[in-house]
Amino acid sequence: MREAAGGREAPGRVPVLLPYPFAGPFDYRVPRGMELSPGDIVHVPLNRREVVGVVWDGVAEGAVGDNRLRPVSARLDVPPMREDLRKLIDWIAAYTISAPGDVLAMALRVNAMQEAAPKLGWRRAEIPADTKLTKQRQAVLDALALAEPLGSTALAEAAGVSAGVVRAMADAGLLLPTDLTAAEAPRPDPNRPGPALSPDQEAAAQALRESVQKRHFDVSLLDGVTGSGKTEVYHEAIAACLRAGRQALVLLPEIALSAQFLSRFTARFGAPPALWHSDLNPATRRRTWREVATGVASVVVGARSALFLPFVDLGLIVIDEEHETAFKQEDGVIYNARDMAIVRARLCHAPVVLASATPSLETFYNVEHGRYRHLTLPQRHGGASLPEVQIVDLRADPPVRGDFLSGKTVAAMRETLERGEQAMLFLNRRGYAPLTLCRRCGHRVQCPNCTAWLVEHRARKILTCHHCGHAEPIPPCCPECGAESSLTAIGPGVERIVEEAARHFPGARILSMASDTLSGPNAAAEAAARIERREVDLIVGTQIVAKGWHFPHLTLVGVVDADLGLGGGDLRASERTVQLLHQVAGRAGRAEAPGRVLLQSFNPEHPVMQALQAQDLPAFRAREAAERRPGHWPPFGRLAALIVSAEREADAEEVAQKLGAAAPHGVGILVLGPAPAPLAILRGRHRRRLLLKVRRDIAVQKLLRGWLSAVSIPSQVRVDIDVDPVSFL
Ligand code: ADP
Ligand code: ZN
Repeated sequence: MREAAGGREAPGRVPVLLPYPFAGPFDYRVPRGMELSPGDIVHVPLNRREVVGVVWDGVAEGAVGDNRLRPVSARLDVPPMREDLRKLIDWIAAYTISAPGDVLAMALRVNAMQEAAPKLGWRRAEIPADTKLTKQRQAVLDALALAEPLGSTALAEAAGVSAGVVRAMADAGLLLPTDLTAAEAPRPDPNRPGPALSPDQEAAAQALRESVQKRHFDVSLLDGVTGSGKTEVYHEAIAACLRAGRQALVLLPEIALSAQFLSRFTARFGAPPALWHSDLNPATRRRTWREVATGVASVVVGARSALFLPFVDLGLIVIDEEHETAFKQEDGVIYNARDMAIVRARLCHAPVVLASATPSLETFYNVEHGRYRHLTLPQRHGGASLPEVQIVDLRADPPVRGDFLSGKTVAAMRETLERGEQAMLFLNRRGYAPLTLCRRCGHRVQCPNCTAWLVEHRARKILTCHHCGHAEPIPPCCPECGAESSLTAIGPGVERIVEEAARHFPGARILSMASDTLSGPNAAAEAAARIERREVDLIVGTQIVAKGWHFPHLTLVGVVDADLGLGGGDLRASERTVQLLHQVAGRAGRAEAPGRVLLQSFNPEHPVMQALQAQDLPAFRAREAAERRPGHWPPFGRLAALIVSAEREADAEEVAQKLGAAAPHGVGILVLGPAPAPLAILRGRHRRRLLLKVRRDIAVQKLLRGWLSAVSIPSQVRVDIDVDPVSFL
């Protein structure tokens, strides 16, 4: 018999962590004959239900007497949760001041614990050569010749026949049943030759290969201009990881980006990686989860939640576009997947690659303090030059009334399209117009649940709130004064830019790309393929077009409103604007033809516009750093936000005031607020914010715990804790 879990003091009982917001694990009795170790997945009774939990580390608490202790119901026959993942869960809970069970829920939410039922598929039987086959039956066999085995539906679709044909062929013995879940999928092959690397690329790749081979934790910043071949370089690190027999994880900020990633990866390694994101169907989810847990999946590419997959032997984590704020999860457990991935890598003794053309100030801080290694790729691949960036001064060259593109921008687009090249217009705003205003009474149509205007989506004929999702038909008359046809769209969204562009270029093939019109990686892949095949002349898009894409024929990028991100009091507004617009600019001229970027701005002198025009990111960073350092703003200090919310404003206010009165103080500690949040009402809840700012050498967690324990919070009030906030709404 194995020793009772970890030699506990109270044999016969184990702590079990449940995926609910309790303060810690609960004790359960180990029934006679059952052997349990930390990490085992179990069923236990909770009130009147049976729930899934994980046998946790540490000593059973012993608070509940033996006689009242309930027994573990069953140990599930699934791979146990490994120690590194358990430690990661504890670590995240402590860092984000969350209940460990809430963090566990993210690792169990995958809901893949149950054995996936075998899924029936079909192979071709041995068929005598002289067998006469109908056209339809031949089509089925032809489809299988391309891909075998296939499930019934997929097979019928691939062959263009009805499901009945497949069934009849099975009855006739022409098809053989097979277990699809057991099908050996081709695996990425690290020994296929990669591209010949440039000396800079090779130096970076070699450094990463060595890190992978050492099986040590370290962090490398792969800092390369757009189009410099960062992806090719970290592919080499993945190849080294596969040769070492370990698994690799690639985190992308936006799953729409996985489309191009998948095709490039497949071209390099001969087989696709496993894909992980929140929209996978349950069957794929279960299969992928098991393949990761059993080591069958050697490379996973995914969004934030892939961080919690049960890797057997994780040997490398790549975080592409490391500066992206999309790595921050803003609801539930508020955590930054980039930072937590670094924690996981440390627990697994694996290196991390942070790739970006515009690394964050936080990451540079760590480079400067010797914590991260700095690998640079200063040039675009194949001698492509960086695009030329020009500012279009909208004060001097204003668009005609009601339009948003200046004459200069339209002229540049015309030249580009006439040369047969592609152009892109970028505006980081979905929909048709951000505001609907009554010309008679001045009424602005607001969300009933939020402090926000409703955004018109003309194609869908609705007004919708981008914060809570509320949607209503576009009203025929002003809801305030009743005037007819007095409602006017104010300001542009991408839909409106598409309309304007179509007016200027009636013959152009325009593709609109926004997260609401292109949902999911498949739609994005299809769009990217059309662009690559040159079936599109003009792309109009939101931030979804900014990142990562490689469109060789795109030579002009026009930024409709370069000032858009600069408003508001966000600490990182300038940094983010530079990152986003530099990324967008980087889409232009990635092959032979040189690229050109036009930034439409009312503030040409703004340091952000100047930095973008000069393409001098180091100078911009130095300037930002000089502004943040004296006040100990991140990365030179630490922040944590408390967001107090309640349905009744008075409840939120009361708790916010109490928290304000109990705020920690001392040298190097400052609390700002309480103050109404910029989004003062969200989903019908009134919101107040407090911001804790401390010197870098002070840990915020201890302060936060003390602070929160000093104030009693009634059940109708919620206090969300956001450590290292990136959003200040
Ligand atoms: P980044 O990720 O830095 O923006 P990519 O990895 O997308 O750059 O590279 C830009 C383009 O150049 C891609 O089409 C890529 O395949 C190509 N490329 C980069 N390095 C090489 C190389 N050494 N040999 C061949 N093609 C390369
Ligand atoms: Zn709303």
